[in-house]
Amino acid sequence: QVVLVTGASGFIATHIMQDFLRAGYHVRGTVRSSATAELVRQSFSQFAPRLDFVIVEDMGKPGAFDEAVQGVQGVIHTATPFQIFNVEDNERDLLRPAIDGTINILNSVFNHAPEVKRVVITSSFAAMINVTKGSWPGHVYSEADWNTTPYEVAGAKGAPGGLAYTTAKALAERAAWDFMKTNKPNFDLATIMPPMVYGPNINATANLAKLNTSSADIYRLISSQTKSSDQVPQNMFWSFVDVRDVSKAHLRAYEVPEAGGERFFVCTGNFTYQQFVDALRERIPEIQDRVPIGKPGTGAVPSSVYTIDNTKSQKVLGIQYHALEHTVVDAARSLLELERKS
Ligand code: NDP
Repeated sequence: QVVLVTGASGFIATHIMQDFLRAGYHVRGTVRSSATAELVRQSFSQFAPRLDFVIVEDMGKPGAFDEAVQGVQGVIHTATPFQIFNVEDNERDLLRPAIDGTINILNSVFNHAPEVKRVVITSSFAAMINVTKGSWPGHVYSEADWNTTPYEVAGAKGAPGGLAYTTAKALAERAAWDFMKTNKPNFDLATIMPPMVYGPNINATANLAKLNTSSADIYRLISSQTKSSDQVPQNMFWSFVDVRDVSKAHLRAYEVPEAGGERFFVCTGNFTYQQFVDALRERIPEIQDRVPIGKPGTGAVPSSVYTIDNTKSQKVLGIQYHALEHTVVDAARSLLELERKS
């Protein structure tokens, strides 16, 4: 079986490709340049006969994926710009590519890939979150939640990049479910909604100066920016998941018949940065002097923060979540390895 993975160079997509390749699939990745294809190809050299690439320079163009979907039996759509700081134009840089890319992949499958039975889309907790409620004491987030921020609010000049990103993810997922309702295609859809995704960074294009957003979040805990300070960052987001659980969720959502037509909140639980730095200092002694200390042992998640319900992902997809300490320690180790290589 040939499975198409869009955004093959990404942090999460790399784990997804690895899982599908290990499970015996032929994987076709979309990338934006031949140089990127070459890098990704080299990092999966042991799977070379079952790996190929199609270059899709602009997924926002109608028909962008028409060539890429030819002959595939399944699609995993991960490509989305994930940027929350220094966004120049919310519509051009976040909203349009996320929404148009999603509609375009579905249209390409609908029109050119009759063998596809299921499409899995990487949505996000961003598509669930109620941005007006903050830490929403007492609320339990689950698949029943939808972010309802309107396009006009997120696209407005001066609206924060984080608001534009979260809204882009929500509207892209909505557009996908609307497409299914309107067109009643021969394939079905499953969506995966992770919160902040941490864990080992193994993508071929990883670069310490330009890390993906969630890896950068961990790197700042062990990089020189925090070295001289004892400041443990305040949480902006509370929930997290391990990238290995996210990739497994995509594979299972593709394979498990009952996953069709469903959204899945793939989430370990809540965290604080104090818990992260405590684990890092204890488990990686050689970086003790680079990790802020804060107040060790005091990092319990405040009871005033929403909680999460991940039972559906456990029951239907069989996900057994990595523990916080494994996620953050393995993330840091992979970033230290990247440091050594650069
Ligand atoms: P990365 O930034 O590592 O990867 C993003 C991928 O999307 C890259 O392959 C990138 O290609 C591609 N891409 C970005 N913009 C475009 C565009 N305009 N056209 C075509 N391709 C594009 O991000 P992650 O791996 O972290 O994210 C992957 C998916 O997971 C996204 O959909 C994101 O919204 C979602 N997600 C991520 C979370 C996280 O914490 N990491 C949390 C929840 C959801 P290139 O290499 O060429 O730039």
